[in-house]
Amino acid sequence: MVSFDIVAEAGEARRGQLRINDRTLETPHLFPVINFYGGGNEGALFGGGVHRTVKEFLTHDNEITGGEDYSDLFRGVMTSISSLADYGIREKKLDWYLGNEIREWDCFSDYNGMIFADSGGYKILKQGGLEGQDFEKDIDQDKALDIQLALGPDIVVNLDHPIHPDDEFEERIEKMEQTAANAARFAERRDEVDGACYLTVHGYYEAMLERSFDLIEDELSEPIPEAFDGIALGSLVPRKDNVEILVEAVSDCKREMQQRGYEDLPLHVLGISGNAMPLLVAVGADTFDSASYLHQAINGKYCVNLFETVPIDEANFDSCECRVCNDDFHRARMRNEMEDLYQKDILGSVAAHNLAVQQRELRKFRQLIAEGDKERVAEYLEEAVKDQKGFRKFAYQLINERINPYFEEIDTTYA
Ligand SMILES: [Zn+2]
Repeated sequence: MVSFDIVAEAGEARRGQLRINDRTLETPHLFPVINFYGGGNEGALFGGGVHRTVKEFLTHDNEITGGEDYSDLFRGVMTSISSLADYGIREKKLDWYLGNEIREWDCFSDYNGMIFADSGGYKILKQGGLEGQDFEKDIDQDKALDIQLALGPDIVVNLDHPIHPDDEFEERIEKMEQTAANAARFAERRDEVDGACYLTVHGYYEAMLERSFDLIEDELSEPIPEAFDGIALGSLVPRKDNVEILVEAVSDCKREMQQRGYEDLPLHVLGISGNAMPLLVAVGADTFDSASYLHQAINGKYCVNLFETVPIDEANFDSCECRVCNDDFHRARMRNEMEDLYQKDILGSVAAHNLAVQQRELRKFRQLIAEGDKERVAEYLEEAVKDQKGFRKFAYQLINERINPYFEEIDTTYA
């Protein structure tokens, strides 16, 4: 059973409840990327360095979490089939991993959040398949779905062929056609999925998205909302640092969805988080996924807010209200003041903090949308971008057009 109910709106921002079987997720929401199988064995929580520490947070390993329950950071997580081969494993191991669903392993059996299993299109397209120490597997739509289903996911998405900013027009069309053909094959197998099926669409602006939707509709034997439970907008990762392009893409995707009568489907934005999230929520994005919390930590970066990071040894834990920073145990870890600390333990606490910052911002935003007060939503966004010279002007314009004509009477020289 899959349902998505909009419970409140403010401008084009919306708050919803995504229900998949017996799990519910409040949206807007961020799915942190988790590598469940880091090439390791079950006793070591399947290894994977900092990935392992993050899994220790997810599974409440008291030795690592200091006794606190951090499960609310992981109500929904994203994992990709392409990550299965990340550590150069042997084929025997891959088969062993796929012999159990994630929650069938003792170590993950208490995990009760949603698992979004990505097809890994971007990586698979780049590498031509899944490659381990002694195997190379070509991945097509059927094989991708077989592997996704072996993980025991709540959400699956078709294998896509993401477009790249440098692609020629013909190349984009070809990729969109391949994605559409995959979507049609995926839809034929939807009865095998005990959860939600998401459809990937691609494009940075309206004409491209229109083409992407048209090609998919032509391939499908039934209307999109009958075959799919959600839309996932892809191909944005190479553009992740250009917030204007991201906002335009999400906004145009929403418009296409509205015109085609798909506006009741949840919209997921693949691979994007951080500073872009508030503005993307403002134009109607419902969920996101990202590994940025982890990559920042691996690079020794501590998030001050959605926009700024500082090196971990310059972090001021007093100014963060998250539980990680308010716990002496984690402070000591992040300052590297404890004996026998592994790098993964120091950086794992930083990753949990970074994720907490992003989840906290979305929680705040959900509350504001629930209050339905457009003016307060506009104020929140204004506050969020006020120090961001790069896109402040653009953000104000967006707030003005989409949320609230808040700055109508004001001279626009503030930008
Ligand atoms: Zn913190």
